[in-house]
Amino acid sequence: MSDLMKGKRGLIMGVANDHSIAWGIAKTLADHGAELAFTYQGEAFGRRTKPLADSVGSKILVPCDVEDISSVDSVFDTLKEEWGSIDFLVHAIAFSDKSELRGKYADTTRENFTRTMMISCFSFTEIAKRAAAIMPNGGSLVTLTYGGSTKVMPNYNVMGVAKAALESSVRYLAVDYGEQNIRVNAISAGPVRTLAGSGVSDARLMFNFQKRNSPLCRTVSLDEIGGTGLYLLSDLSGGVTGEVHFVDSGYNIMSMPRLNELKV
Ligand code: NAD
Repeated sequence: MSDLMKGKRGLIMGVANDHSIAWGIAKTLADHGAELAFTYQGEAFGRRTKPLADSVGSKILVPCDVEDISSVDSVFDTLKEEWGSIDFLVHAIAFSDKSELRGKYADTTRENFTRTMMISCFSFTEIAKRAAAIMPNGGSLVTLTYGGSTKVMPNYNVMGVAKAALESSVRYLAVDYGEQNIRVNAISAGPVRTLAGSGVSDARLMFNFQKRNSPLCRTVSLDEIGGTGLYLLSDLSGGVTGEVHFVDSGYNIMSMPRLNELKV
């Protein structure tokens, strides 16, 4: 492919398997010359991530559960030891109790609200701080969000609230790290069939609805999200920070379903 990422090193957080959005981005970055390190959450995901990391020549694969801050610290200690510095980071991590990704947002429990916010939103702030500390030459951070942050999507519930907070964090972090030439952006992806995606009730229905009603009349591929990841993490997007960039076949611009959808 190109040498766009040649000489750049970065961390990919959130690969569970080869359907993960993080993997789509990682593969594209590797195709363009990036050197990658990966984290995995727990041994089962570790076993799936290992061959993927190997396939792109990655030498660093470390466990990380963002609920345990010592494991986050240890990831960045390893990167500092092995590489000294990094140029980019992908945060593709989210979790909420499946039993609350259905029904009413109003029924969200205090415990799951706190846990969802911690894992899906605040972890990015904690990770950004540690990443920035090893980005002496500037860098680029990307997180993943969804349109359920600003518009109500059935069953997305507390995750929508967490994504709204995550998108707001992107803007605050963009200002906090701007003077260090560290850019902070989010990709707002359309529905993708992943483990996390299937945790939301009626995921298949939402997937098909967005497929029929987006301007492009289709959903997006991992490669397409990867391409946007490449843009945001490379020097191509040098002047871009604090943005939420939609990769959703244009679904976010629609105010109503297509007419032919209404007539059936
Ligand atoms: P995925 O299941 O492949 O990835 C989710 C990742 O989050 C997994 O690797 C999992 O290990 C990790 N994770 C969860 N809790 C964690 C914890 N405590 N510590 C460390 N890691 C943890 O699903 P995905 O769809 O690729 O999700 C990646 C990101 O993309 C998420 O932020 C998700 O909200 C977002 N997103 C997904 C869609 C979609 O339709 N799938 C659309 C827009 C945005």
